[in-house]
Amino acid sequence: MTDIDLALRERFGLSEFHPWQREAIEELLEGRRRVIVIAPTGGGKSLCYQLPAAVLEGTSIVISPLIALMEDQVRALTARGVAATYLASTLEPEEVKRREREIFKGRYQLVYVAPERLESPWLVDRLAGIRPALLAIDEAHCISQWGHDFRPSYLRLGEIIERLKPPRVIACTATATPIVRREIQERLGLGSEQSAVILRGFSRPNLHLAVVESDSSTQRRKRMLHALRDALGNPDKPKGGAIVYAATRRNTEKVAEAVAKSGWRVAPYHAGLAASVREDVNRRFANRSLDVVVATNAFGMGIDRADIRTVVHVQAPGSVEAYYQEVGRAGRDGQPAHGLLLTSSGDLGLRRRLIGFSGGRDPGGVQDPAHVQQQWRLFLDLMRYVEAGSCRHDFILRYFGDEQETLGGCGHCDVCERLEERGEEGGPRSASEEEAILVRKSLAGVARNQGRAGLTAVSDMLHGTDNERLRRLGLTELSTHGLLRDHPKAWVLALLRRLITAGLVDLSTGEFPIPYLTPLGIATMKSEEPVRVLVPPPEVRQPRAHKNDRQASERELPNDVDPLLFESLRATRLDLARAKGVPAYVVCHDRTLLEIAAHKPTSVEALAGIHGMGPARIERYGEPFLATVSSHAP
Ligand code: ADP
Ligand code: ZN
Repeated sequence: MTDIDLALRERFGLSEFHPWQREAIEELLEGRRRVIVIAPTGGGKSLCYQLPAAVLEGTSIVISPLIALMEDQVRALTARGVAATYLASTLEPEEVKRREREIFKGRYQLVYVAPERLESPWLVDRLAGIRPALLAIDEAHCISQWGHDFRPSYLRLGEIIERLKPPRVIACTATATPIVRREIQERLGLGSEQSAVILRGFSRPNLHLAVVESDSSTQRRKRMLHALRDALGNPDKPKGGAIVYAATRRNTEKVAEAVAKSGWRVAPYHAGLAASVREDVNRRFANRSLDVVVATNAFGMGIDRADIRTVVHVQAPGSVEAYYQEVGRAGRDGQPAHGLLLTSSGDLGLRRRLIGFSGGRDPGGVQDPAHVQQQWRLFLDLMRYVEAGSCRHDFILRYFGDEQETLGGCGHCDVCERLEERGEEGGPRSASEEEAILVRKSLAGVARNQGRAGLTAVSDMLHGTDNERLRRLGLTELSTHGLLRDHPKAWVLALLRRLITAGLVDLSTGEFPIPYLTPLGIATMKSEEPVRVLVPPPEVRQPRAHKNDRQASERELPNDVDPLLFESLRATRLDLARAKGVPAYVVCHDRTLLEIAAHKPTSVEALAGIHGMGPARIERYGEPFLATVSSHAP
């Protein structure tokens, strides 16, 4: 038995490591000595620095913004015979001095410090003087100015690492989006090569995930009440608790009323309620005198209940990450639990308003266009989750970069269940033979494209469009030209999008993203892997983000507008918007597209005559729009 196994048993009273904990600890002690650990809350991250601190010679320093947590951990460590203490503003000055004296004598194995404390150069110097063996940064995402938990004092940690020169550094967080990860690496000087990134534990096998899109509010309400019934049973004898998330304060109150009418003990919860009221809701939910809380995203931190059987969203949350956090509150006891996301086309407009209203402000309250774009991008990622034709669990795991835990069809999400119904040809939870062929044909189309054209042109090629542009690109010559000619163009495009969210196709980064096959896409095309994608429903489905502008889809198009061309122009706009990471209206307004669809300009000069097409827009977007027009030429 190694030292760390022994310490695990004797000091921490645990019988075995989660495999990733061992990996992190070994990297920290004997490997690269620079480690980033990303695992969900409650996953067991603190062991990754506590155990090394307990076995290393010298003092380890942990930076943590959560004082209550420090107190808890210090108490638990002391009880286990690990000499630990903490420094925070809640202590009497005398007590701080006393502790500091002991710390500087090297009496402690582990010292927790609130980040604000390290703004004192004196303290940093003295800590440098004891040559700390390890520096741990907990809640490392607080360094990200994009996040909700931004702490200005975290920005100085890079500098503090340089001054303390700890031989080992570990950063922990439950927030795993690639952007935040990169920020942590950059600001802490933990470039990806020098440091081990360990990202694990995002899989939640006891959680059943489903999405229902419906534009009828009555339908959505019914589904929500149904979900409560299914998960909790009878209101007389509920089997556990439930959380219903709504996007606005007003809606929490309305939904809570409806839930109360069905006999549940329910309360709304949002930041507009008095602190005493919110505490009371937290307490009653924890002691089970409430069955359901209908809440905004303000409800979360203090939830102390493991028997939450379902989390229902009656409106789409702001990002995949927010969704994962919120739905992840179900089934903490390991028993089966459900997550249901209800969404309607109205959610897009709602989210835009919410982002413009509050989310688009930086920590100082100033509206920042980059921040608005960032939040909108995160929301569009969630919309991709909504329309994904592949396993929802795998989508989330891929989103977080937790590839190692992807399941290749989990069997407990709505998409896998629908795949299951399709028959057994390719094995369980894979598409029917017929659908599998469609998917393989599209993959072949992407492969044959060989970097020539963007997604829209590839879908035109598969659909069999024959025009000047496709000929110029050589796409009409390909054996895959027209392979899917029995399907509407919009459908083929929707299928290609699903291949992207399923991880079979990826887009190159750059001004004009080009689709290409991922290794999984290649294996699937060659039938080495079963097809685990649902093809879009047969009716021509508008790409989701088009519902962005509801008036446009609801109103009759003017007579002179070619509706197919208009749709293609919107698809082009969507591609451009996604490629640039801006909302579609920033590329141009519907009115501009309507005019293009009516006048069908074929030259830059003609395009300049269109409302809203100034020189800057023409420079940026002129070529793809002209190409779309020419691809519709008779
Ligand atoms: P995090 O910091 O990731 O939010 P914690 O470190 O607080 O999570 O751990 C949550 C709980 O999991 C703690 O009660 C801890 O004792 C327990 N735990 C951690 N590692 C293991 C393990 N290998 N085996 C069993 N329990 C563990
Ligand atoms: Zn699944």
